[in-house]
Amino acid sequence: MVFRDGHLHVFPDRLKAAIDAWFAAAGWHLWYAGRPAPDCLGALAAAGMVEGAALVYAHRAGLAEDLNRWLWTFGRAHPELVLFGTVHPDDADLPGIVERALDRYDFAGFKIHANVQRVRPDDPRLDPLYEAVRARGRAVVIHAGREPHRTPYAGWRWFVRMLERFPGIRVQVAHLGYDQVELFADLLADHPGLYLDTAGLPSPRLPLAGRQLRDLAERWPDRIVFGSDMPILEEPVSALLERVAAALGAPELVRRVFWDNAGRFWGRAGRAETGGPVA
Ligand SMILES: [Zn+2]
Repeated sequence: MVFRDGHLHVFPDRLKAAIDAWFAAAGWHLWYAGRPAPDCLGALAAAGMVEGAALVYAHRAGLAEDLNRWLWTFGRAHPELVLFGTVHPDDADLPGIVERALDRYDFAGFKIHANVQRVRPDDPRLDPLYEAVRARGRAVVIHAGREPHRTPYAGWRWFVRMLERFPGIRVQVAHLGYDQVELFADLLADHPGLYLDTAGLPSPRLPLAGRQLRDLAERWPDRIVFGSDMPILEEPVSALLERVAAALGAPELVRRVFWDNAGRFWGRAGRAETGGPVA
């Protein structure tokens, strides 16, 4: 199947090794552990990925600038990637990092991870980021849901507060906002810039009935985006692709979730003109 991936991660080798080790210690069996970013992208390409949103995130202050520079360099060798940079809420020069990411590196936007970065989506430290993104018509991908690691920072109620303060912002909620999927989905009606991605779902780690996924996509055919969450997968990516496509069923829904919607969310950053999933 040919597809766009709305949620994948690339990391420098050392950071990837640290993340692999963290997940292993937490009892995960990552299928792509020990595989560097180009290898993981190769696996996605072999599965049919044409374009993908590459997300990075800084887990502590002082890393974002280097990570963004690394991402930009890495992205030059991977024109199939739509780049989303990072900033940490404790970074001293947050507005400067944001500006360089958007204007010098021309990133499509940012990834925010409420759990890993220990920041509520409505934390005022992030206001300059939201303002800059909205002013430039870029986008934000936020892990705002409470799973798979519960912290006081994630959850629907903090996300709503941000959304109400930044109307019109283009934002994609990772993992369908799991485990508050219906609460996040209820926001779609009033917020045309809001999208939900399926990263890593459904899976034993984030179980969701195929029927619920299909119902969601039928209700909101233009707002659900497929995401692999590569390399945070406990199975080959092809198994996840097949499960999501089978849950959606109708070719029209498959085309929207695996192609159209990511392209619309990325805006001008998407490059592939034609294509789309074919059975
Ligand atoms: Zn992810």
